[in-house]
Amino acid sequence: MNRKTALAAAVAAALTLGTAALATSQNVALASAATPSGAGFQAMSTMGRQAALDQAAKDAPAVAKQLGLGPDERLVAKDVLVENDGARHVRYDRTYRGLPVVGGDLVVHRARNGAISSTTWAHDGAIKGVAGVTPKLSAQDASKTAERSAKHVKQARTTNLDTSQLVVWAVGKVPVLAYRNTVTGAGDAGANSREAVLVDAASGAVLDQYEVNPEIGGTGNGVNVGQVALETSQSGSGYTLTDALHGSTVVYDSYNSPQSNPAQNARAFSKSTNSWGNGSTSSRESAAVDASYGLAKTWDFYKNTFNRSGIRNDGRGAPAYVHVDNQLLNAFYDDSCFCMSFGDGSSQNGNIPLTALDVSGHEMSHGVTAATANLNYSGESGGLNEATSDIFGTMVEFYANNAGDPGDYYIGEKLNMGNGYLRRMDNPAADGSSLSCYSSRAGQVDVHYSSGIGNHFFYLAAEGTGAKTIGGLPHNGTPCNGDSFGGIGKDKAAAVWYRALTTYMTSTTTYSSARTATLQAAADLYGANSQERYIVSKAWAAVSLGTALPDPGGSTSSPSPSPSGSPTGNPNPGNALTNGDFEQGATGWTQSANDITNSNQQTPHGGSWYAWMMGYGSAASETLAQNNIAVPAAGSPKLTFWLKVTTQESGPTAYDTLKVNVNGTTLATYSNANASAGYVQKTVDLSAYRGQTVNLQFAGQEDASLSTVFLVDDVSVG
Ligand SMILES: [Zn+2]
Repeated sequence: MNRKTALAAAVAAALTLGTAALATSQNVALASAATPSGAGFQAMSTMGRQAALDQAAKDAPAVAKQLGLGPDERLVAKDVLVENDGARHVRYDRTYRGLPVVGGDLVVHRARNGAISSTTWAHDGAIKGVAGVTPKLSAQDASKTAERSAKHVKQARTTNLDTSQLVVWAVGKVPVLAYRNTVTGAGDAGANSREAVLVDAASGAVLDQYEVNPEIGGTGNGVNVGQVALETSQSGSGYTLTDALHGSTVVYDSYNSPQSNPAQNARAFSKSTNSWGNGSTSSRESAAVDASYGLAKTWDFYKNTFNRSGIRNDGRGAPAYVHVDNQLLNAFYDDSCFCMSFGDGSSQNGNIPLTALDVSGHEMSHGVTAATANLNYSGESGGLNEATSDIFGTMVEFYANNAGDPGDYYIGEKLNMGNGYLRRMDNPAADGSSLSCYSSRAGQVDVHYSSGIGNHFFYLAAEGTGAKTIGGLPHNGTPCNGDSFGGIGKDKAAAVWYRALTTYMTSTTTYSSARTATLQAAADLYGANSQERYIVSKAWAAVSLGTALPDPGGSTSSPSPSPSGSPTGNPNPGNALTNGDFEQGATGWTQSANDITNSNQQTPHGGSWYAWMMGYGSAASETLAQNNIAVPAAGSPKLTFWLKVTTQESGPTAYDTLKVNVNGTTLATYSNANASAGYVQKTVDLSAYRGQTVNLQFAGQEDASLSTVFLVDDVSVG
């Protein structure tokens, strides 16, 4: 995937090795477990990892069969993480008749004995509904549509460097054949900004679009280059900037090659003495010193904290290019070249090269994300992708413990920006654009703004609420719900995020499912009834995602955190239905298809489970029913539920319908004409059934073309 992801900050200073946190950031002594080393994962040798990958590849056909995938689908082993106890998490990408499936990735969780215990899907189940791999639309027409529809760049055009690739787009319920185009035009990253546009290969509709090298923006000036120790290699009678201790990472001088090909004019740095740079841009080596130092620190952070050996956990270093392009106020990781590019800055920031410590940590972490969850760089998953880079960029800054650039939860604070930073994690909205609290807007804003929700969660989980000075800068944990609590410390919070990222997130993960992933990771690391998991839930609630779990106290026998009560009882007093909010899965319901789901591809009204009915785009019917419902004998009993309808249809004609049947009689009908942006509460009068025991059925029906999705949640009779 040709994805570039960016950020920036300024320049590193004096070297002090060590992993100790700064005293000002140490925090909240919770009397509970230490973090298992490596976030619970074993250190793997290059050969051991290759053997695990080979085994995963060998297992792939059997796994595909066991998971119920179709005959046209293949699993491609991508990554394996092995627990300290031998259990393993195997990440696969998917192809459909040889085409890459966007949103086809999944993680198979295997117990110690090798049995599959569960699967984390980006797209639930088999790829169904793709009518062949022959596009109706020509590649040329798709490119034209991409040029016409591009929102992020002006005068978009395709050049011979850009791509138009046929893929299966499985981010929605019904996968479709699509073209992935890249277009170039004037945008945030200069005259040659690039944007990816996904075009439906049948209808020509634009499915998604996102920038591939977003801006860092801002103004500033000043240069700060300090004395650092470097790992270099001897070459003949001289030296090169090849770091043999860190995957043989080589830093090259790009000699102002274009962003699209930083290697074009590149040369290795080499010289007869082993002394590099002069702390000023008058030496081309100075920026290279920064990059070499920052990438080595980032490597050491992942290795010593998570047992991760390089971006892809294979021991290989990614090459880095400094002096890329001209007047480039940007830095980015590009997975297609497995390389990092650093610009020299522009007059806007006093031509400071973008080679600082937290830039290196941020960009290299984009590589780790690409090698693991591979979060799509648009919508909520794009915000999570950016947040992951800010979180680990910040952790690298703490890890390096560099007196000239102490750890803090500000991003780009050394850039001398107008307001002193690019982003801050304790109070994201302070920059005027970032989101501090989750809302339905999260999927619509720039990924560098929606990252605020994840950054804010991380800060609150690590440090808690209230004012502190960290790294010499003022911080203030500002919860969205007025709560007040202490954090679990940044090391535990980072272990939770890393484990969630590498084990329970996929390309389509949303904020709601990221919450679920971190709660699972915290349960794995510290226990289901741990204070750590409780604080994680409070930190999410403090950014307006979900409600906090019950406080487990010091006890390990606390009640289940499920808000829904006992598995067989009624979840809500006054509700005659069993499991009306679906939080116990299918309990109490009969369904003709697997409609009851906690898939992250749609949003529940409450909790994490809901019923996803229809959405096929072809003739189909489904039912969801519950029998033996005791309608109250007094008052005006009614059925209430929350309904969200999204459709490809248009106009007032009801083509696709959802009926509410009681004892076989249709009491209400909803259709594509009831489409709404969010959930709407529906009420159906049950007075005629007072005191009776009835059967309730939701019955969906779709016509031959254009899909309509009916989401049902929080159903109640009372
Ligand atoms: Zn970034």
